[in-house]
Amino acid sequence: MSIAITLKKVHKNFKIKREDDKSLFGSLRDSLYLKNCYEKIHALKSIDLEVKKGEILGVIGPNGAGKTTFLQIIAGIMRCTKGKVLTKGSILPIIELGSDINPELTGKENIFLSGVVMGLPRRFIKRKYKELVDFSGLKKFINVKTKNYSSGMRMRLAFSILLLSNPDIILIDEVLGVGDIRFQKKCFEKLKKWSNEKKTIVFVSQDMTSIKKFCDKAIFLNKGSIVGYGNSSMVVKKYLMMNVSSEKDLYYEWGSKDIEITSVKLLGSKGEEKDSFKQGEKMIIEIGYDNKNNVKNPMFGIAIHADDMLVWGPNTTSSRALPKSLKKKGTISLVIDNIPFSSGKLFLTVAIHDYSGKELYHRKEKLLFFFVDHGLKKSNFLNLKYNWVFR
Ligand code: ATP
Repeated sequence: MSIAITLKKVHKNFKIKREDDKSLFGSLRDSLYLKNCYEKIHALKSIDLEVKKGEILGVIGPNGAGKTTFLQIIAGIMRCTKGKVLTKGSILPIIELGSDINPELTGKENIFLSGVVMGLPRRFIKRKYKELVDFSGLKKFINVKTKNYSSGMRMRLAFSILLLSNPDIILIDEVLGVGDIRFQKKCFEKLKKWSNEKKTIVFVSQDMTSIKKFCDKAIFLNKGSIVGYGNSSMVVKKYLMMNVSSEKDLYYEWGSKDIEITSVKLLGSKGEEKDSFKQGEKMIIEIGYDNKNNVKNPMFGIAIHADDMLVWGPNTTSSRALPKSLKKKGTISLVIDNIPFSSGKLFLTVAIHDYSGKELYHRKEKLLFFFVDHGLKKSNFLNLKYNWVFR
C-alpha cells in the first residue's frame, strides 16, 4: 500500500520572548537583543511516522502536546525546524472550520463564493448545490444572511461546503465537536466514505470514543514526542491509563508503594541533568526512593525500550548490587560508562520489587525518554564488543 504522509525526524521549535525582566540587567539585555531574551519551545521532537493512503489516523494527547503543530506541519501551514515532511496529493486542512464564512452573505452566496475561491466552475457548483444543501440540513435558511445563523448552523454550512472539494489528504483539528449529534454522525459517515475512496485522514480529537470508533490507528503525543502508536483502541487505553493529573507526570504507574520511587534523573558525566547523549558517553540514572514501610531487600530495576522493544533490563538482584542496609530515604544510581546503543529515542522505565521480583512496590513505566546520537551517518543499533574467530 502506498504511503500518503511521511515524517522523517521532524522537529519544530518556537522561540518565545521570556517574561519581562524588569531589572537593570534585564532591560539592558533586552535592548541589546542578546540571545537569551528568548526561550525555545520544542513543540515537536524527532517525529518519525508514515501514514498509508486510505488510513484514518487519530492524534491524541494532553494540552500543549503538539497536536495542532503536527497537523499544521503536514498541511504546510508552517515549516519544520529540522527533518522532512513528504505528502502525496492535495491536502484539505479543516483546522478553523467556518472562519471563511462571510456573515453578510446568505448560505447560498457563501457556497458559490467558496466554490469560486476554490477555483471550481460555476456549472460544477450548481450541480453539487442540492447535495450540499441537503447535507447541511439548512434548506429553510439557505437564503438568510449567515450572521443570523447559530454557531452550529455556521459549522454545518462550512462542513457542507467542504463537499465541493476532492482532496487526497484531509486534516481535521477538533472541529467536529461542534454541531448536534445527528450532524456529527453525518460528518463521520462522510469521512468514512472518503476513507473508502482511499483518501487519507488525520484526525485530532479529545473525544476518545470517536478516535476508537473512527480511526484505524492512532498516535499519542506528549511533550512533542510520539509516546504511543498503533491500533487506536490500544493507544486510547494507554492514554487513559496514564497518570494525566499533570502534564509533567504522564506515565503508567502502579504498585503498593511500600517503597516509592520519588524521583528519576538522567545525568551526564559531570552530574548535569540531560536528555541527549552520544554513543560511548557516560550516563547516570539516578533513582530517588522513600522506604516508607521499611521494606527489607528490595530489588531496583530499570528497563530501556526502543518503541515497544525491550533493549536492556538490569536489576540489583541479578547484579548482586544492593547494600546490606538501605537508608530510609536516598538515591541509587546506575552508572553506564559507555552507552552501547544508538537509535534516536529510548524510553526509561523504573521499578522496585521485592528481592525475588514477585511483589511489586512501585513501577513507573516509560516515564522518561532520552536521545542517543552515534554522530555517524550510518551506525548499528548496538555497539557490542566482539571478535571474529577463524578455525
Ligand atoms: P491543545 O490541545 O491545547 O490545542 P496541542 O497539543 O494542539 O494543544 P500545540 O498547539 O501544537 O499543542 O502546541 C505545542 C507547544 O508549542 C505548546 O507549548 C505551545 O505553547 C507551543 N506553540 C504552538 N504554537 C506556537 C507559536 N506560534 N508560537 C510559540 N509557541 C507555540
